[in-house]
Amino acid sequence: MKIETDWHIHSHNSCDAASMKMPEIIEACRKMGIVKFGVTDHFNTRINMPDIIASRKEYLENRIDGFHFGIEVSCVSKWEIEQIGKGLYQDAVYGIREGGPAWCELAIDITAEQLETLGVEYVIGGTHWPLYVEWKTKALIMDYHRQNMFLANHPLITIVAHPWWFHAKYWGKYVDKYQPWFEDFRVIPSSMHDEFADAVVKNNKIVEINLHAILLHPAYPEKFKMQYIEYLAFLKSKGTRFAIGSDSHQPYNLDFEKAGQMIEKAGIKQQDLWSVD
Ligand SMILES: [Zn+2]
Ligand SMILES: [Zn+2]
Repeated sequence: MKIETDWHIHSHNSCDAASMKMPEIIEACRKMGIVKFGVTDHFNTRINMPDIIASRKEYLENRIDGFHFGIEVSCVSKWEIEQIGKGLYQDAVYGIREGGPAWCELAIDITAEQLETLGVEYVIGGTHWPLYVEWKTKALIMDYHRQNMFLANHPLITIVAHPWWFHAKYWGKYVDKYQPWFEDFRVIPSSMHDEFADAVVKNNKIVEINLHAILLHPAYPEKFKMQYIEYLAFLKSKGTRFAIGSDSHQPYNLDFEKAGQMIEKAGIKQQDLWSVD
């Protein structure tokens, strides 16, 4: 499959290590034959609002046909939003990742009105870190599944980002290498995949096929990637639609051809892919 869309790209306005200016994004897409694409900078909590305002401004100055404006929100907790609302943790640009109550109420920290004011055309929602549960495989699986389900059921989310992505920086620090599910993806009960696919289809959500952070992740084991392709094939068999997202933070250095072949292996075709109308 030839990849011609990319709905997950970060600009230098993003709170993390992203470096591209909007004209660089446009140029990178043109070079790689990406004809429809969108910028989606991180919004973990309201602390990141100035980043998104800057991103929107720069987008409007560089807007061309086929280039769209989105946002990547994190699943966070009500507790976290309350803490930030009280004026605590004002330097938590990456969210408050520790100290809250496990299994607490989940949330995203943006409203429909704010999205409209910002001109956001679509919202990617991602599970980015565990919410205060034990760093044990079973608890992490339950927590990530709970977050993915929350996003699949949330009215403001368009695309569920990178299901089961897990930051490799946690390996060796909080969990063993290839834990919690990279040694064998089957450690996740298939009933969870069923439940997720049902919610996605019922709520008309889109599932992201993430290139840099999953399919082409340099540290993820090949076996995991093969199993992930089977997982995508399973989601497709349930009627899921997908969006391609490179998750690029730097100018493209991705093997789009290889990614296209992997997506084909999952039986996913152009007509299964989502695009901004
Ligand atoms: Zn993400
Ligand atoms: Zn991202």
